[in-house]
Amino acid sequence: MTTSLHHPIATREALVAELQGEIRALARERNAVILAHNYERAEVQEVADFVGDSLGLSREAARTEASVIVFCGVHFMAETAAILSPQKTVLLPDMAAGCSLAASIDADQLRAWKAEHQGAVVVAYVNTTAEVKAESDYCCTSGNAVEVVNAIPLDREILFLPDMFLGAHVRRVTQRENIHVWMGECHVHAGIDPEHITLQRALHPGAEFLVHPECGCSTSVLEMMSAGDLDPEGVQILSTEGMIKRPALSEASEFIVATEVGILHRLRRENPSKRFFAANDRAVCAYMKVTTLPKVLRSLQRLEHPITVRPDLADRARLAIERMVAIGGHAPLSPVPQSTVDPGE
Ligand code: SF4
Repeated sequence: MTTSLHHPIATREALVAELQGEIRALARERNAVILAHNYERAEVQEVADFVGDSLGLSREAARTEASVIVFCGVHFMAETAAILSPQKTVLLPDMAAGCSLAASIDADQLRAWKAEHQGAVVVAYVNTTAEVKAESDYCCTSGNAVEVVNAIPLDREILFLPDMFLGAHVRRVTQRENIHVWMGECHVHAGIDPEHITLQRALHPGAEFLVHPECGCSTSVLEMMSAGDLDPEGVQILSTEGMIKRPALSEASEFIVATEVGILHRLRRENPSKRFFAANDRAVCAYMKVTTLPKVLRSLQRLEHPITVRPDLADRARLAIERMVAIGGHAPLSPVPQSTVDPGE
């Protein structure tokens, strides 16, 4: 099939549908599965076989019988999929899909930090490169960070990286003094600040406030709440699936959503009778948006760009990831008493 991308009178919708058809057909031919993160462009989410957050997508990657995985997300997520599924071909459609949070620490910096704190236990948020994971003792998600830290003996120093907001939140909730926090941050969170949240809540007083703390884009909201800077009334801290299901379970008809705006597409599509507002509609991860349908198609056509992780690194990183998966995710994310207990992933 040839695409009519350059046809002068073709509508955008028709071109999108045509590209999606070509991608689906080629994916079948190649025995490929397409995974898309919740923050991807709407048309990329629509063509995917699975849409979810980074850990959910890694689990899908490990579970799938497909031999090729087209990972529409950012680089560290594709690496995690490659670590968990070393026998599969994992493709990243655009190598520019990075992550400002993962880029805030590299393996050399971590080794130097460890040398300053000999014997400390290293806890790394999943938004890290494979090399950094390989230097870490535990990985964690925002959902189980508190439990991971609580599982470490009280007398052991902890190096927590790279998200300073999640680190500050974990330190406050666990009341441990011996946690050192790396000062990394995700640029997207800056769009989700207390002023924007307060404004949206004033504009929509009956709305429930949904927080999805995956990625660094909204861990600052967790931190604001545990610091008492944000009114916890009506707050629901949810995983992706919890967030998608929540509107149907709630009597509220309006929801303010504090996370990267890409998740609004799925929320609106799966809950058409409810209204959703972004805490700030400029909270956009540019790295997630570099993946477009033509790039997904080219990735399948040329099998580009394969993501591989050196076996020795992968083995060490896998250990840290497996510890993350083994520890809970069954405790509330923050001390918000009326919040739904849905730590998710
Ligand atoms: S939202 Fe932030 S943490 Fe998530 S991929 Fe984008 S830059 Fe990284």
